This record gives sequence, C-alpha cells and structure tokens, in this order.
Amino acid sequence: MRSVLVTGSNRGLGLAIVGRMLTSKSPPGHVFATCRRPEQATELQNLASCHSNLHILPFDVTDFESYGNLVDRVSDAVKDDGLNVLFNNAGIPGKYSRISYFKASHLIETFTVNTAAPIMLTKAFVPLLKQASRSNKHLPMGTSRAAVVNMSSILGSIGLNKDGGHYLYRCSKSALNAATKSFSVDLKSSGILVVSLHPGWVKTDMGGPNAPMTTDRASQHIAQLLCSLSEEHNGGFYSYDGSPLQW
Ligand code: NDP
Repeated sequence: MRSVLVTGSNRGLGLAIVGRMLTSKSPPGHVFATCRRPEQATELQNLASCHSNLHILPFDVTDFESYGNLVDRVSDAVKDDGLNVLFNNAGIPGKYSRISYFKASHLIETFTVNTAAPIMLTKAFVPLLKQASRSNKHLPMGTSRAAVVNMSSILGSIGLNKDGGHYLYRCSKSALNAATKSFSVDLKSSGILVVSLHPGWVKTDMGGPNAPMTTDRASQHIAQLLCSLSEEHNGGFYSYDGSPLQW
C-alpha cells in the first residue's frame, strides 16, 4: 500500500501497527499517525526521527468539526494518489461492565469514540479512498487499492456473547460492525474493501497485563492479515489470524 492512516497511534496497538508498517520490507510512502497530543507522543516522535514517511497529526476523534482539516492535510501529502487504507483503531473500554453502574452519559461517551467517530471518519475519507481506488483500478480489491479497517472486538460479537455484561463496549463494537457491513455494500462498486477486525486479547492499557499477546505479536498478525485481504473478505468480521467471526 502507498498510504495508511491509523487513529490512536501514540500507544498500544495503534503505535505497534504504525511501527510495524514503517519497518516492513516495503513501507508505505505515507504513514499518517494520528493522536490527541503529538507533543507527548515520545515513541511516535522517535519513530519520526528515522522515518521521513511518518506524518504525526493531532486529532481527537470526538472533535467532529476537525475532520475536514485532517482530510485536507492528508490530501495535501498524497495528492492525486488518494488514501489507500483508513485504519479506525482509536477506542475506549467503556467505564462500567455491570448493569447497575453505568449511566446514559457513559454509554454516549463510549458510542461517540468507538462508533460515531469511525463511522464519520470513514464518511469523511470516502473521496480520498475513492481516489486511491481509481488510481489503482488495475489492482484487485484489497489494501493495495483502497480499504477501511475497523478495529472491533470479539466482545462486539452478539453470537459469541455467553457472559453478558460489558454493555457499553459490546454495544459500541456491535454497532461498529453493523456499519462495517453497510459501508462494505455501499462502497463495493467503488472498489473499496471494508472489514471489522478483532486483534486478539493484547497487553495494552486496555487489554491489561494478563492479556496473552504482546503488541509486537498482534501487529505482526495484523500486518499479515492486511496483506491477505481480498474481495472475498469484504464486509466480514475477522480475528487477527484471519478466521471469520460470528456477528
Ligand atoms: P489503548 O487503551 O492502549 O489505546 C487506545 C488508543 O485510543 C490510544 O492511542 C488513545 O489515545 C486513543 N484514543 C482514545 N480516545 C481517543 C480520542 N477521543 N481521540 C483520539 N484517540 C483516542 O487500547 P488498545 O491499543 O488496546 O486498543 C486499540 C483498539 O483495539 C481499540 O479500538 C480497542 O477497542 C481494540 N481492541 C483491543 C483489545 C485488546 O486486548 N487490547 C481487544 C479487542 C479490541 P490517548 O493516549 O490520547 O488516550
């Protein structure tokens, strides 16, 4: 792929994915790593000092008014090539998991970050994704042409929910999955692939210290999966190892 944008890339999975792309055998010409406070994103700044293709852009996904400005900055860099991959990674865990504790405000906050933001950001980047798809129309559907990857979670699977709870997080990711499906149908004729991804249970601030997988390993799996995505994956929900998950 020539260009990719990853949200929430100052720590956790986002940072690992950005690092993995920059050090891959054929790194993208442009890696846009967005985060809320670039000045505090030391690891990203260190990466930028050795990779001139890394652009660190300030971006709070809840600041919907700023989306146009982000699109303009990406557009200025990629010019007529468009953006190949939008990776909606930023997310929050949802404050309370039990039925008695959470309030409407907690539900709304979680939906704003985990659901409304990736939906609205995809909408904002459709023109640049279409441009990338047109510039690469000789290629089959996939991340080399144009794709949106929504970072979901196995907790968003309704079919696999045997334990209940986690209302905020589960509902926000299930709704994101519903959007993945609709975008995949609506954007198919433009050659843009859209999938939901479960990254595994990963040791990050969100995954916690007991998670079995490191961010390094998870990012390796995710990079492999991104390379393998094709038309048959469009509109699906996949685990990090490429196996399909129930909605
Ligand atoms: P972390 O908590 O480690 O990182 C979350 C990232 O999201 C941070 O960069 C954070 O930025 C960013 N973020 C949160 N709110 C906003 C906002 N309003 N605007 C911009 N950025 C924001 O989580 P993970 O790396 O573990 O999770 C990444 C994704 O993977 C999430 O979507 C999560 O739901 C999903 N996931 C993770 C699993 C795991 O086991 N770790 C399992 C399943 C899914 P800041 O530093 O500014 O807060």
